[in-house]
Amino acid sequence: MKIKSIFAREILDSRGTPTVEVDVTIETQDSKPETARGAAPSGASTGAYEAMELRDGEKRYLGKGVQNAVENVNKKIAKALVGKNLKDQKDADERMLKLDGTENKSKLGANAIVATSMAIARAFAKEQGKEYFEFLGGKKLPQPMFNILNGGKHAGGKLAIQEFMIIPKGKTFSETLQMASEIYHILGKQLSEKYGASARNVGDEGGFAPPMDKCEDAIIAIVKAIEEAGYTKETKLAFDIAASSFYDGVKKTYALDEEEISKDMLMDYYIDLVERYPTIASIEDPFQEDDFNSFSTLTNELEPKVMIVGDDLLVTNPKRIQNALKTKACNALLLKVNQIGTVSEAIDAAKLCRKNNWKIAVSHRSGETEDTFIADLAVGINAEFIKTGSLARSERTAKYNQLLRIEEKLTDNYDH
Ligand code: PEP
Ligand code: MG
Repeated sequence: MKIKSIFAREILDSRGTPTVEVDVTIETQDSKPETARGAAPSGASTGAYEAMELRDGEKRYLGKGVQNAVENVNKKIAKALVGKNLKDQKDADERMLKLDGTENKSKLGANAIVATSMAIARAFAKEQGKEYFEFLGGKKLPQPMFNILNGGKHAGGKLAIQEFMIIPKGKTFSETLQMASEIYHILGKQLSEKYGASARNVGDEGGFAPPMDKCEDAIIAIVKAIEEAGYTKETKLAFDIAASSFYDGVKKTYALDEEEISKDMLMDYYIDLVERYPTIASIEDPFQEDDFNSFSTLTNELEPKVMIVGDDLLVTNPKRIQNALKTKACNALLLKVNQIGTVSEAIDAAKLCRKNNWKIAVSHRSGETEDTFIADLAVGINAEFIKTGSLARSERTAKYNQLLRIEEKLTDNYDH
């Protein structure tokens, strides 16, 4: 594939923070120019080992501007890629990695590189007249984990656990989406009855952020909403603990439910919860990102009943995944393309996990854009799960809506 032009701009993400968007224009076989686009998402509870976003650090946008990253795309990356014969995604990504030359992509910026990599991925698909999920050969829709109640760094309340998710299982993706939406709206109604209308305010990923004191209150509220919706039999629970975000590295304690507890107490907390709530099916980042040992103990204790997902632990990085495989620290990968910085490295990470029989959950970031790339990617790599937030806020529903369109195509319901 030959790229005619690459153009980056600074846009805003769902938190109103600048991010990088890239347009890649190619010439297709019938000499028609086609443009493909990609936009970098951005985390709040970022792992310490993630590839680094480049931020300007100047007065404009309170230091969060991305003009330098944009210029790196428009000048350096464009010069390295435009007009070159690119064999495949890996070829394009490796040229960017060479140009950057750092371990964590800090020179060009992971935000500059990932947005370009995503746009190039789509351009390869467009060259063949395909959508990206088709280009990758995807055949099945992922099961979503819907984050309907937000805590941790994604909300302003007292809940330490970051994401309280439901996994309803309908006969089709569209039925699953409908069930989740019904549970979400019933939860909103029940929360406002109990805590007042402000309990329906939402956090960064569109889940409710009620004024609760204890994490178990959130679980009780969700179980009740599932019950009223009539989906108790079909719906499992999942959590992203994001434990690094409430870990005190000096005291070596976790601040949970207004108490400071040790890792062993936190371990007991999970084991007890799973016993009392047998529908818990998945726990992400139960301990801080360097504690492979506690991850291993919990995985050993809870598998195969409960999936233990590595996010900050793994940062979609094959080297950290190798370590987790060796220590049996978890059994599922949370795949975030911008954590590692290129599409081909993220796909390599998925292949490594797949080879070792881990499950894969493709994930959004808490700072998102209208870009629906991860919906296509999740289908494209036949991921078991997708995590893309609640049933509200367009940057979240954009991905679910794209999955509805993909479902039409995969089930031959598309004749227009
Ligand atoms: C997560 O931790 O899984 C997540 C989506 O949050 P963030 O993007 O803030 O890392
Ligand atoms: Mg996480």
